[in-house]
Amino acid sequence: MPTFRLSSVYTLMAFICIFAAGSYYTHLSIEARSKEQQRSMEEVVSTQASAIERHLTHSLSSTYILAQEVRRSNGQLNNFDSFAKDVMQTIGGVSSLQLAPNGITQQIYPLEGNEKGIGHNLLLSDTRSKEAWQAIDNKTLTLAGPFMLVQGRMGILARNPVFLENNGKPYFWGFATALLYLEDLLSFTEIDQLNRKDYAFELSRLHPDTNQLDIFARSSKALTEQQVRKVIRVHNGEWFLAMDRPIDFTFQIMVGILLSLLTASLFSLLLRRILLEPERLRALIKIQTSRLEQLAFFDELTGLANRRFLTEQLDHAILNIRRGGGGLALLYLDLDNFKRINDSTGHHDGDLLLIEVAQRLKATVRECDIVGRLGGDEFAVVLMHIESVEHARLVAEKIIANIGMPVQLAQNEAIVGTSIGITLAPEDGTSSGELLRNADLAMYESKRAGRNQLSFYNIAMQERALYSIRLEEQLRQALVREEFALVFQPIVSLSNGLNEKFEALLRWHQPERGLQHPASFIKIAEQTGLIVPIGYWVIEAACAFIQQQIQAKQTIKPVAVNLSVCQLREPEFANRVETLLTRLQIAPSLLELEITESMLMENVDLAMILIADLRHLGIKVSIDDFGTGYSSLAQLRLVPVDILKIDRSFIINLETSLIDRQMVEAMTVMVHKLGLKVVAEGIETVEQLRFLKNIGCDYGQGFLLATPLVPELALQYQGFADLAPSEHASNDKSLKIAASN
Ligand code: C2E
Ligand code: MG
Ligand code: MG
Repeated sequence: MPTFRLSSVYTLMAFICIFAAGSYYTHLSIEARSKEQQRSMEEVVSTQASAIERHLTHSLSSTYILAQEVRRSNGQLNNFDSFAKDVMQTIGGVSSLQLAPNGITQQIYPLEGNEKGIGHNLLLSDTRSKEAWQAIDNKTLTLAGPFMLVQGRMGILARNPVFLENNGKPYFWGFATALLYLEDLLSFTEIDQLNRKDYAFELSRLHPDTNQLDIFARSSKALTEQQVRKVIRVHNGEWFLAMDRPIDFTFQIMVGILLSLLTASLFSLLLRRILLEPERLRALIKIQTSRLEQLAFFDELTGLANRRFLTEQLDHAILNIRRGGGGLALLYLDLDNFKRINDSTGHHDGDLLLIEVAQRLKATVRECDIVGRLGGDEFAVVLMHIESVEHARLVAEKIIANIGMPVQLAQNEAIVGTSIGITLAPEDGTSSGELLRNADLAMYESKRAGRNQLSFYNIAMQERALYSIRLEEQLRQALVREEFALVFQPIVSLSNGLNEKFEALLRWHQPERGLQHPASFIKIAEQTGLIVPIGYWVIEAACAFIQQQIQAKQTIKPVAVNLSVCQLREPEFANRVETLLTRLQIAPSLLELEITESMLMENVDLAMILIADLRHLGIKVSIDDFGTGYSSLAQLRLVPVDILKIDRSFIINLETSLIDRQMVEAMTVMVHKLGLKVVAEGIETVEQLRFLKNIGCDYGQGFLLATPLVPELALQYQGFADLAPSEHASNDKSLKIAASN
């Protein structure tokens, strides 16, 4: 039985038991109270009965005294009234005393109100003669009544027969009678007060004639079944006193039931909670476990398989093809320029984009294929049961096309490309690790080849990867072994041809491969983070060159140093540069730092902070390779830099491309409007130089003016003679020094 139902049964049982126990307790306590009540009732009844009996006996003693007086006076009681008065005052409770010689009432005290009784023959009387004869026969006092008297009140007649002697023979003289009013008798007891205190009572006797119960006094309240009876013995019969004080236990019963209900409900609810607690915990554990499982195997954002789960499934699929033949393809996807969307429009948009890409991927492949997110903007697709390379190519092309469709984000639309690397199993590898590595390498090939395309893995990629690893190791050693050097390319003023400053360019004297240009190692240095220590070395070497200029006692030319994106992220960068300048006693105005436009645009916030810090120190900042990073001149307005360097790609076609000429001119005008200086990079021909000079470009850099020079030659370089103001200067190239790097 499920725990839930079982707990309900237990709860119900607990409720019933507690309620029953509560009710039983209520019943017991009420029973105890009513027994207690009964007991006290018995006491009250006994007290009242004996009080009545006592008072009756007491009152009746008046007839004995009167009889005795008759006997003493031998039937000639002359002072009856005063005697009777004395007796009645002494004994109380007697309403009148009478003498009835020979059974005929002759004297009554007090007479007033009792006149009707005079002459009444008791022995001939209708109803009451029976007791009179009984008294004579038994020679004892008899009681008649209680009954309604002629006076209109309930009363009791006590007849005491008086026997006198005549010659030693007793003869019946008459009766000494006492009349007792019932009310007076009862007033001597407390029965009236009890009546007022809600007691009920009944005083009765068995009627001697009818033998029926004759109730002669009763309370206004009726008796209940709980009445207590007590017999009062009177001279010639028995009276019954019945009493009770009915108590209504309804309230107590209701309270008892309510309390039982409340207790039972509370306990059963508590029990239910206790019983259900393990169930609740189990459910919670189940939810958490499934959440953990979900987290462990699936990507939280997209719901796709995560790297771990995908790898497991890939291993499984490989095992299947090893057993049953066939093949599969692993596609490694990396979104192009995702970081830019994420940084520019916010993480929420980034998330939306990733979710949409995940859905499109799933929609593009078959049900049996596996789609997973490897992390960040990297996804993987395992195409099962691949029959040909073409099949994989077709799916990859479809993916590129689908993902390349516009994606609606929170505010605007975005278009992203995908670079895909494809590897095949079992041809390229037979383990998930191997296949993921291969596909990753192929994906990098797609990136290198211009992004938004697919590449199949081949062995050459593996070799290139190995080369990269070797290169990384060699780079690590290069700093220690002092294999780096700087060359300095002059930057010339286009107005007068004089050398204004230098750009420091890094060279690596690699023992096996000879002189290496940055293009062959900067990327690896950046990927491995080695660029950070190398970067500091470059700044220090550039400063050393400035010191060389100081020592050579010439006009000191500032030196521009290229920064890498990793250096932007260095929190202590500006501080370290400041410390270095202070240590070497070099004015900050002699150092210039170049940040490429693409680097700036991809890390606007970081770059802005660093640029502000550097400029605060007095260091000039320039934007390098401008025109390649897709930023608009309007955006540039927001970046506080000093110089802008137009990329070589705009200069190279100046002679042939009108658009490039217009672009360069427009850029120059705009930049001047922003109050910045312009440098044209990569000037190789006189035509380019002339054009740039004509449009008012401030500085030029290029092989035509000077190639990057080793420090000794750089120190000698003064400027480019063709640009000298003199008319004949164009023919005098004495200022130009042979290029060497
Ligand atoms: P860049 O900062 O734009 O530097 C100018 C590049 O253009 C240099 O290449 C220079 O030799 C080349 N160049 C100058 N004039 C001409 C020309 O008339 N024709 C042609 N075809 N090329 C010309 P280099 O020295 O190979 O440097 C390439 C890039 O490597 C640099 O581009 C810069 O981005 C980076 N780089 C160089 N040194 C460093 C460095 O110390 N640190 C960092 N992070 N990057 C560096
Ligand atoms: Mg540069
Ligand atoms: Mg450049």
